Amino acid sequence: MEYISTRGSAPALDFEGVTLAGLANDGGLYLPREWPRFSEGEIAAMAGLPYAELAVRVMQPFVGESLSESELRALCAQAYGRFAHAAVTPLKQLDEQQWLLELFHGPTLAFKDVALQLLGLLFETFLTRSKDHLTIVGATSGDTGSAAIDAVAGRERIDIFMLHPKGRVSDVQRRQMTTVLAPNVHNIAIEGSFDDAQAMVKRIFRDPAMTARFNIGAVNSINWARLMAQVVYYFAAALQLGAPRRPVAFSVPTGNFGDVFAGYVAAQMGLPITQLIVATNINDILHRALSEGDYSAGLVTPTAAPSMDIQVSSNFERLLFDAGGRDGSAMAAQMAGFEATKAMRLTNAQREGAAHLFSSARIDSAEMAEAMLWASTACGEIIDPHTAIGLHAARASGLSKDIPIVTLATAHPAKFRDAVEQATGVCPHLPDRVGDLFAREEAFCELPGDYDAVAAFIAGRAVSNS
Ligand SMILES: *Cc1c(COP(=O)(O)O)cnc(C)c1O
Repeated sequence: MEYISTRGSAPALDFEGVTLAGLANDGGLYLPREWPRFSEGEIAAMAGLPYAELAVRVMQPFVGESLSESELRALCAQAYGRFAHAAVTPLKQLDEQQWLLELFHGPTLAFKDVALQLLGLLFETFLTRSKDHLTIVGATSGDTGSAAIDAVAGRERIDIFMLHPKGRVSDVQRRQMTTVLAPNVHNIAIEGSFDDAQAMVKRIFRDPAMTARFNIGAVNSINWARLMAQVVYYFAAALQLGAPRRPVAFSVPTGNFGDVFAGYVAAQMGLPITQLIVATNINDILHRALSEGDYSAGLVTPTAAPSMDIQVSSNFERLLFDAGGRDGSAMAAQMAGFEATKAMRLTNAQREGAAHLFSSARIDSAEMAEAMLWASTACGEIIDPHTAIGLHAARASGLSKDIPIVTLATAHPAKFRDAVEQATGVCPHLPDRVGDLFAREEAFCELPGDYDAVAAFIAGRAVSNS
């Protein structure tokens, strides 16, 4: 399988290459040159497979020659063996139409573990082969950071530098990152928003002074391997609900457009998805883009669903490229315009291409609380604020009753217990697997929102390439 950049001028790479590269060197994002497609018979034959085996079937076409099938199988068994539920991503019924897909049974309690546990092992496999060192630089709105740190802590050929917006992640989220004291883990609290931190990370990938000295790698969903791993649970859920015969819809609480883009990929591969509901909080750039064609970044407003407090959704570029006819130079020009003005209009082709599959909704804090309360009182389920945003959008979607709607439950409620307690009166407990989080020592450094300071910090601590 060959991968190309959305901006048309970076070299094509194989799976191993895109996994280690993260962002393409023309600033674009990598995508497969074409979508692999399963027949109805092939999809039907996946029903009932254990999660790790389903993962092998779904991911094999993307991995191509980079791993043998038995290597891939061993990595999947190891990655998904760390989950606290035998089904890995169990599906729960709420009422006749509404379902929850619980993606938070991994070590750090959010869906990011599903992809990052595997990505950590992929890095290790490829780096051991090439005898290289990788310097991971990432930005987190809260959950990517802890999941990535858990996945790579203590690994010999990897250093990780994780930027989080100071004071804008929950205590549980911060402590899950800062109490990991392995010498290869470097936490940085940075002044500003997640978008500021993400922009700095993207700049590092394009800074020749950094890329010449260090092998820079990505754990954000700009890394294709993350999206690939997330495609698997769309298959897992749809198969349980009767795919390929019965169509299914998904509602996805969305920030960086990674998770919901994985659903789009599943649909391109032949999974019968009728609709993908993009649920945003009041930071609603994606809702405005999909409903009005207006992709313009406002200021980020902090909310009780901080992992979605995002105004620049990196993976949206992947959709615009694919739905808009895959024209790399046009995409590069469109994104240059956006980077200069923080605003752009979608083309008609992009709007029509997206409208086949996507709808969108903007959910405010009252609606979010209402969904948490409904789940608690009507169904006996305590859900987190992000999941509540997805569930509210699912219940308001107006989709025909014979189409099941699966809301992706993206985080464990105990990760956001203040907001959950406020809405439901119930204080969710942290599962045993996170241990004595509040008793452990924290280590992180604070830096101003200044590119040179961040680059110098990393350059002073990372291992340069040989
Ligand atoms: C990261 C995250 C999201 C948003 O996912 P994207 O892939 O960025 O759209 C939603 N909910 C939770 C709990 C998250 O951690």
